[in-house]
Amino acid sequence: MSGTTTLPTPSGPYLDAGMLPADFYAHEELLSEKERGKIATLRDFLRTQAAPLVDDYWGRAEFPFQLVEGFGKLGLMEWADPDSPESKPSNLFSGFTALELAHFDASLATFFGVHTGLAMGTILACGSDEQKRRWLPAMSRFEKIGAFGLTEPHGGSDVAGGLRTTARRDGDGWILDGAKRWIGNATFADLIVIWARDVETQHVLGFVVEKDTPGFTASKIENKMALRIVQNADIVLDGCRVPESNRLQNAKSFKDTAKILRQTRSGVAWQAVGVMFGAYEIALSYAKQREQFGRPIGGFQLVQDLLVKMLGNATAACGMVTRLAQLQDAGVYRDEQSALAKAHCTVRMRENVGWARELMAGNGIVLDYKIGRFVADAEAIYSYEGTREIQTLIVGRAVTGGLSAFVR
Ligand code: FAD
Repeated sequence: MSGTTTLPTPSGPYLDAGMLPADFYAHEELLSEKERGKIATLRDFLRTQAAPLVDDYWGRAEFPFQLVEGFGKLGLMEWADPDSPESKPSNLFSGFTALELAHFDASLATFFGVHTGLAMGTILACGSDEQKRRWLPAMSRFEKIGAFGLTEPHGGSDVAGGLRTTARRDGDGWILDGAKRWIGNATFADLIVIWARDVETQHVLGFVVEKDTPGFTASKIENKMALRIVQNADIVLDGCRVPESNRLQNAKSFKDTAKILRQTRSGVAWQAVGVMFGAYEIALSYAKQREQFGRPIGGFQLVQDLLVKMLGNATAACGMVTRLAQLQDAGVYRDEQSALAKAHCTVRMRENVGWARELMAGNGIVLDYKIGRFVADAEAIYSYEGTREIQTLIVGRAVTGGLSAFVR
């Protein structure tokens, strides 16, 4: 039999510029020509600037700060500057931005999503006009980076009811006390959104804490097995005083927090599709190069079965998030629609990265061959911004006409 032991060279989706081979139904063509041009520029940036860095930085669990200026120069967030002439892009464009980032590297997609979607998104939705003018111009250029502190050591899924960080009014300011866990970008972020419960009214309020504020500390969570480039932190707020002018003026209760999550959860669903696209392309490329029994393994029926199942999952998920973006653009989408997309796309993503790894067998666990990074990163995406179980409870409550299975 064989004797052939051709070893493919490590490859990744970013080696080929142009349209995505995984976009089988050409969803990207639904973008305007200008939007497609911007996505192509992002793709080129990722291919040329980030490609040489990610595996090494992922291995060392460090963040490639040298890319931040380049992210700013892409101009993807210029529209968020209140004085910008640019208008807000379509949700389809924002979705494809998340997809393209995750297609290449889920950690960079997460860095981008935390800064733009969670942190800037909160200021856009809950800040006063003055606060938007104060913070968003520098954030839109990536000169100041944001983080979003909601989750706590004792409050993950149950953060709405179980949020323990307190805010106590003190003269012309507020004193924040408590702890946050898992906060992405927080080890280096300039502006950290902190959600805290007003001790007087019991409502959840939002604050922007500036780094170096006395009483604020952020320490890196070490030894993560996923999204290793993302710098997640444990935050301690110990008598941390922020001025009233840093309280987000339009964040009045957890309902306002939930509005942000509705938006960002659909972004996570797009990330999941990006991971599926990346994993599929890596596996496809490998299947065409790797030879066993005297022929490329891509010529075996069982290997083609894996590839086609992956492509089917990715294509269906892409159709789902595309329609969700259209509903968002029309202003008619609901929490449960976002939750269903997050739950479904991340389940399919987890299945796909497993199949891609299976197809690559031994090399599938070597970082140089990239798919191991996708497999590991998928685990974090599957759980963050609400686990599958919590998204299921949101959808279940809606489809049963309000029969809530939440315990509070
Ligand atoms: P838990 O809530 O402890 O859940 C444990 C298990 O119990 C899960 O399987 C869950 O589904 C299940 N469970 C809980 N309640 C129920 C129920 N009622 N019914 C059925 N099953 C249930 N948070 C931020 O605020 N900012 C960030 O930037 C941020 N970034 C993150 C980055 C990473 C890499 C990770 C891993 C997390 C991040 N998070 C962040 C936190 C993330 O949103 C939480 O991890 C997530 O919401 C789950 O909370 P938990 O990990 O505490 O799990």
